[in-house]
Amino acid sequence: KNMTSAELRQAFLEYFQSQGHQIVDSSSLIPANDPTLMFTNAGMVQFKDVFLGDDKRSYNRATTSQRCVRAGGKHNDLENVGYTARHHTFFEMLGNFSFGDYFKRDAIRFAWTFLTEVLELPKEKLWITVHISDDEAEKIWKEEIGVDPQRFSKLDEDNFWSMGDTGPCGPSTEIFFDHGEEIWGGPPGSPEEDGDRYIEIWNLVFMQFNRDASGTMDPLPNPSIDTGMGLERIAAVLQGVHSNYEIDLFQNLLKAAAKAVGSAETDNKSLRVIADHIRSCSFLICDGVIPSNEGAGYVLRRIIRRAVRYGNKLGATGPFFNQLVAALAQEMGQAYPELIEKQAQVERILLKEEEQFAKTLDHGLRLLEDAISGLKGTEIPGETVFKLYDTYGFPVDLTADVAREQELSVDMAGFEKAMEDQRNRARAAGKFNVDYNDSIRLDSETAFSGYEQLSGDAKVV
Ligand code: ATP
Ligand code: MG
Ligand code: MG
Ligand code: MG
Repeated sequence: KNMTSAELRQAFLEYFQSQGHQIVDSSSLIPANDPTLMFTNAGMVQFKDVFLGDDKRSYNRATTSQRCVRAGGKHNDLENVGYTARHHTFFEMLGNFSFGDYFKRDAIRFAWTFLTEVLELPKEKLWITVHISDDEAEKIWKEEIGVDPQRFSKLDEDNFWSMGDTGPCGPSTEIFFDHGEEIWGGPPGSPEEDGDRYIEIWNLVFMQFNRDASGTMDPLPNPSIDTGMGLERIAAVLQGVHSNYEIDLFQNLLKAAAKAVGSAETDNKSLRVIADHIRSCSFLICDGVIPSNEGAGYVLRRIIRRAVRYGNKLGATGPFFNQLVAALAQEMGQAYPELIEKQAQVERILLKEEEQFAKTLDHGLRLLEDAISGLKGTEIPGETVFKLYDTYGFPVDLTADVAREQELSVDMAGFEKAMEDQRNRARAAGKFNVDYNDSIRLDSETAFSGYEQLSGDAKVV
């Protein structure tokens, strides 16, 4: 079946409504009253307290299409964007939830029925994983659903989901779609699983525990269900394309990006990054985030600067990023009217950021190029990374991204040391600028986790 993203969102919500679920609006990207989480990174976030038993709703089954950002914290995909076919910084997660109502059997049956009967996906292209310890889910899949054991495996960490370091968590079962042998990659659990042939489309979490700060897992009052399916990933499957960036929703964004930077091409890695980033940046601003030097505001600033650098790479000569808000409002304003209401405000904030970074971007890039051409090994010295950060406003992940394009790495330890030295100098000079030190610490932490990601999750398309 071919469906637009909008039709798919609707079909999902309606199917679960017909199975007794209450349709609930997406919550904000900024979690309400949750200091453990910077951004809403999954559909379950707005229901966290319901899972924990601290909140009660008038319904015990819910379904949502939740806007999510994964750019920092436990689930950070910023460095994957542009490198994989399946990751965005902003995406919509379709989900169905049971609060102490149905459990494994019905969750699996709903998912399978929706995929194979409502969407009519061929069963032989679907691959299943469950947690290594979960004989119950294995039995349901094999004996009740009748899934072919050849397309079934039991895995460890990949099948245990948690929202963050603390909070609700539990074993999961995941459904993958095989995009065909012309694409590199192996089935889940194989050495080539990070390729993009077998793409995870749906994760069903059997919410059973609450993990505390010490790592102890206490059983939840009621075993519950939390599922998440990326709208863009399932849209790609239905529209017969491999990459999320080829679906309907991205076509006009890519065109607008090409036009704004003056590029003759209408699809390449840089344009995809820009098309992705305009979504996260616009939605974050709509939800009240303002670019700044710390916390959520600094993550927003990093994403904007990353987009601006890619535009520069494509030859943009002036501010361009803010011009994409109109295309986004056109594309998604029906589902999210705030995009239209706040369009002018979002444009203004982006324009200001672009203008500010434009002042140092060229100089910084030149410094970086010089440093690279004079390089002996394959690692950019921490001192250089620090100078770019401190003088030119280059977030560390931006420098790391330039390095990665040339198959170089950055000396993170050296960067940390340069930062520490500067902090000590400031202290010795008797300056106790709390804000300043705070923002630096935050930056180095987020940058560091991003750096680890570089060598891990992200693989070339
Ligand atoms: P992956 O292994 O591909 O990174 P994940 O296991 O981290 O995905 P989950 O935390 O299980 O993802 O989230 C549930 C679903 O949300 C995924 O099955 C996928 O369809 C979708 N999803 C997750 N991360 C992204 C992303 N960065 N961009 C688009 N969709 C995503
Ligand atoms: Mg992931
Ligand atoms: Mg996964
Ligand atoms: Mg998953």
